[in-house]
Amino acid sequence: MSTNSTKSPHSTKFDQAEAPGFMTSEHLFEVAKKLTPGGVHSPVRSFKGLGRSPVFFQSAQGARLLSVEGKSYLDYCMSFGPLILGHRDPEVSEAVHQMIDTAWSFGACEPYSLELAECIHQIVPFVEKLRFVSSGTEAVMSALRVARAATGRQKVLKFDGCYHGHVDSLLVKSGSGLAGKTSSSSAGVSENVAHETLVIPLDDDQALEKVFSERGSEIAVVVLEPLPANYGLLIQRPEFVHKIIKLAKAHGALVMFDEVISGFRVAAGGMAEILRVRPDLVTYGKVIGGGFPVGCYGGRADIMDLVAPLGPVYQAGTLSANPVGMRAGLVTLKKMIRLNGWKVLSERGQKFADKLQTKLDGVGANLQVDHYGSLFWIHEKGSNTDSTY
Ligand SMILES: *Cc1c(COP(=O)(O)O)cnc(C)c1O
Repeated sequence: MSTNSTKSPHSTKFDQAEAPGFMTSEHLFEVAKKLTPGGVHSPVRSFKGLGRSPVFFQSAQGARLLSVEGKSYLDYCMSFGPLILGHRDPEVSEAVHQMIDTAWSFGACEPYSLELAECIHQIVPFVEKLRFVSSGTEAVMSALRVARAATGRQKVLKFDGCYHGHVDSLLVKSGSGLAGKTSSSSAGVSENVAHETLVIPLDDDQALEKVFSERGSEIAVVVLEPLPANYGLLIQRPEFVHKIIKLAKAHGALVMFDEVISGFRVAAGGMAEILRVRPDLVTYGKVIGGGFPVGCYGGRADIMDLVAPLGPVYQAGTLSANPVGMRAGLVTLKKMIRLNGWKVLSERGQKFADKLQTKLDGVGANLQVDHYGSLFWIHEKGSNTDSTY
């Protein structure tokens, strides 16, 4: 994040009410550490990898964040993706306010989720049916359950370097030795659960062929970030992704694209559109909630019809399809379509990455900028992953 210590472009009650010097990030971090583990509600927010304490923000507008100290920051993160239109987009804001003046939860049927579901279905027609949930993690967890039920198989195949939220069975890493031997990558994950997941490296045709020839008949589903963008930006060869799909099909396994970050981000229809493939199942999150807690899983109607109350796979949520998130998501997608936002973002991403690379080269930094559309990643030349995240 780059800083720009100009006067605040915003005026909020929050910053005016507090005497400067009290509401410092450092002070708040001390308070936070007493209240929540490590002072944060999600680990990356601690800025641990940066060797400094985190900045606390009080408000945001457009491309800018305002810290509690009143310092303005250019935001390259956008809440990790959901805010594709920037902070407090006026159209999203209006829709959200209108919804709040109408209702903000029903715990019952409502029409708002149908509009977002229809919009998603129009953009990605292979999503014949979907179910809204409240986070990407929940979407992935639910989709795995459906995939196991649909195939009557237990194993999940995932790839090193792909992140799928904090689902127990996917918090695993490959062990040494045999392909597919795994251990958990988080304390508290049962080894039994970890062993249900097979892990192989990305971009490794041999490992892929081997795991299918040895374990193909046990694999319920192959889970893939078609554009791995959480542990570095690990852009895959399209041939590799196509090979995954071909082998899965040949062995009766389902393919699930985890497009929580790439969906409605790199193109309207995400990587499935770019690669021209129709995964059996897909998960979305981030952009589809416009900054509110929304995720969804969906895909083939015959598979999705296994979900309760129609089928035997139980999945439910008190706040699922929360109307405020539904409106924010719908308005976000509609505005992106109207503005041809994905093309604009791609062009800007290209320009930004080129300029940044020129600057880095100009100062002799041994750093490389990779990007895909508006997603970018800076790493040391010669290594493209970041193990600290
Ligand atoms: C962010 C992300 C998740 C997890 O979503 P949450 O809403 O944080 O639970 C899962 N998969 C991918 C690919 C993601 O980028």
